[in-house]
Amino acid sequence: MKNITGKKRHLCWLRRDLRLHDHHALSKALTLQEKEMSETFVAFIFDKSILSELPDKNDKRLTFIIDSLKEIEAKLNEKGSSLIIRYGNPIEEIPKLAEELKIDCLFYNRDYEPRTKARDAQITHKLTSQNIKVFNFKDLVFYEKNEILTGSREIYKVFTPYKNKWLQTFNDQEQTVANYKCDLSQLAQFQNTESIFNTDWYKKIGFIETHSNLKGGFKQALTRLSSFKKFITNYKTARDIPALEQTSNLSPYIRMGNLSIRDMIRVSIEKSDEGSATWLSELIWRDFYQVILDVFPKVEKNCFKMEYDNIHWEGKPEDFMLWSKGLTGYPIVDSAMRCLNETGMMHNRLRMIVASFLTKTLLIDWRLGERYFAAKLLDYDMAANNGGWQWSASTGVDAQPYFRIFNPYNQSEKFDPEGLFIRQW
Ligand code: FAD
Repeated sequence: MKNITGKKRHLCWLRRDLRLHDHHALSKALTLQEKEMSETFVAFIFDKSILSELPDKNDKRLTFIIDSLKEIEAKLNEKGSSLIIRYGNPIEEIPKLAEELKIDCLFYNRDYEPRTKARDAQITHKLTSQNIKVFNFKDLVFYEKNEILTGSREIYKVFTPYKNKWLQTFNDQEQTVANYKCDLSQLAQFQNTESIFNTDWYKKIGFIETHSNLKGGFKQALTRLSSFKKFITNYKTARDIPALEQTSNLSPYIRMGNLSIRDMIRVSIEKSDEGSATWLSELIWRDFYQVILDVFPKVEKNCFKMEYDNIHWEGKPEDFMLWSKGLTGYPIVDSAMRCLNETGMMHNRLRMIVASFLTKTLLIDWRLGERYFAAKLLDYDMAANNGGWQWSASTGVDAQPYFRIFNPYNQSEKFDPEGLFIRQW
């Protein structure tokens, strides 16, 4: 696309941050230059290398993403702009796009998955060698690895002192939680012939439109957040009872970035009650696991506690199959797995129960369960999922001790005393 305006051209690459508000990279792309001197394009790439690994062509996450992109496109259209979409390997697609659009700078938000970090480094190298500037930003987490350190400037490997330091830093530094305003009047003005509305993107990427109970997009996320605010006070006591549905169910929205972490933190500090404080604590767990993955990328495939890599897992493949289908004969385990298979979601208490059951009762390697969840969860996030699995299997950072084994019957009695959840599934 020829640059006839003579303005500097910025490209903001959306990845797992599918929104147009409180978006660190986008806000900087829109404001970094003198206003009248720059115009910003917004792009999303369907990453072929990720999609080719998804075996289920009815993967609900694609519909969640496409719904989010549709909402973004509609908003961009209101401003005379459009979302550029490509399908391919970003290592090739981003430089191609940079060349086509004649961009001067690329902007994106940082991600901490090992593969993504390697990809981003390659793209940065390619672009900078062509004199294109690359800027990346903290956005996915509230605090990154270097911001919360022990007295001897090391990474915390135990959650409670990490959380205390997180809260202390927050109370010392954050008078108000940052809100990265996005001035959409600075967007490049153009119409996209291959927009999400006039192209069959499902066909292009080889997936089938499949809706879950949770529709993707900022509007849905905001409605859910507003309704959660009404019962956040009860969160501390009600969050462990699956049948009550008193957790926020916002995880897919935060995974895809329909809401920012700062949107969530702002809500968690609105009231000073125990429910809000407990919810904030869960958001801090999220930061904690992102930091662990960032600093110790080996956890993706290995036990955080190295000695446990020597475990000989004795479990049988047939038992894994029964577990995954919800056919073990243990009602709380089976109902949880059936819920996951049908909805793509599972309550946190149930995730802990089925993970403990797989690793400590069936003696099956946590990695198999972790991969199964990765294929099924609408909110699948490598850092949180890996953290949750390694916690349950006792192989992880600050995990429960190996001899603590959840008894599925005691768990049922305690957290589903009338069998309401079990009966539902
Ligand atoms: P809420 O209770 O309302 O919590 C608010 C938000 O805090 C969540 O949306 C999530 O973003 C974050 N959060 C809450 N608990 C945790 C936690 N323990 N670790 C990290 N972040 C947390 N969470 C994921 O987002 N993706 C995963 O792939 C994932 N896999 C898990 C696997 C196992 C084995 C276990 C035990 C936990 C896993 N979790 C995962 C954490 C947790 O179960 C989900 O975040 C939670 O159930 C989502 O429901 P919610 O949005 O109603 O959470």
